Amino acid sequence: MSPSAVPAVRDRLRIAIQKSGRLGEPARALLASCGLAWRESRDRLFCYGETLPIDLLLVRDDDIPGLIADGTCDLGIVGRNVLLEQAGERARTGAAATYREWRALGFGGCRLAIAVPDEWRWDAAGDLAGKRIATSYPALLSQWLAAQGIDAEVVTLSGSVEIAPRLGKADAICDLVSSGATLAANHLKATETLLQSEAVLAGPIAPFGDVRAELAALLLRRLDAVLGLKDSKLLMFQADSIDVPALMQLLPDAERPTVLRVDGSDRVALQALCRGAMTWQRLEDLKRAGADALLVLPVERMLA
Ligand code: ATP
Ligand code: ZN
Repeated sequence: MSPSAVPAVRDRLRIAIQKSGRLGEPARALLASCGLAWRESRDRLFCYGETLPIDLLLVRDDDIPGLIADGTCDLGIVGRNVLLEQAGERARTGAAATYREWRALGFGGCRLAIAVPDEWRWDAAGDLAGKRIATSYPALLSQWLAAQGIDAEVVTLSGSVEIAPRLGKADAICDLVSSGATLAANHLKATETLLQSEAVLAGPIAPFGDVRAELAALLLRRLDAVLGLKDSKLLMFQADSIDVPALMQLLPDAERPTVLRVDGSDRVALQALCRGAMTWQRLEDLKRAGADALLVLPVERMLA
């Protein structure tokens, strides 16, 4: 076997993230909240992990799936839309799948949707038969059209898809939508949703055969702890012990509540980690059911 055929053993994990754009900053912030810190290279394209041997490569989001596929990077943070589009494109050319979504990360939310001119009296997806649809997501659109049994023409554009109908290049578009403001400004309205997307951690299908496996497992453990804590709050209150069963009914998301008797009385102090959002409405419901001296505290870190 020639030396180049021996897979290189690597002792650092390399994660590709978007250099700028919508996902760059939140991706870095999420990794930083997992305890990672870096020293940036002068050209600001590479960040050397200082707290752990986990480095960042800052790139265009469209390059991320390819960098994982060719092994330049081990993991990546990218929109599900980009990951699935490129996986679809690879599948179409007969290439084997080498990466997959490891975790959904809860930011960069948007959907890939069909949008049509405002004046189109939309009835059903079948209305698209025989029409031209402009998109930067030809693989996902073609898959969806095939699944719906619709024969339409896919017009692939690399950008400014939303102006294609006005330019007479297409009858409808298939593009990412979050607030819908861009569509409205272009006199378009969203109809069918093809995909719900958000930023995801992508990684290889095959396990790492070296120390990167332990680094990846450590990162996932910390990510799960951070993501699981997102809306979590520590809730504390006092109540008459007789009211506790009714109060617990209002707290289906309370984990391992601690109930302590308040000395020399029938009252208890209760403390629980709640996973759901602790809104004013919920606090008022608890108060009505007998809770008192309610306190909601942020949870900084948790290691189960
Ligand atoms: P790059 O320069 O890295 O190629 P880009 O212009 O292709 O950047 P952005 O516009 O920053 O990419 O979008 C990155 C990702 O953000 C999208 O792939 C998508 O997953 C997500 N996203 C969230 N909301 C929206 C939106 N309203 N429009 C476009 N993308 C969105
Ligand atoms: Zn891009």
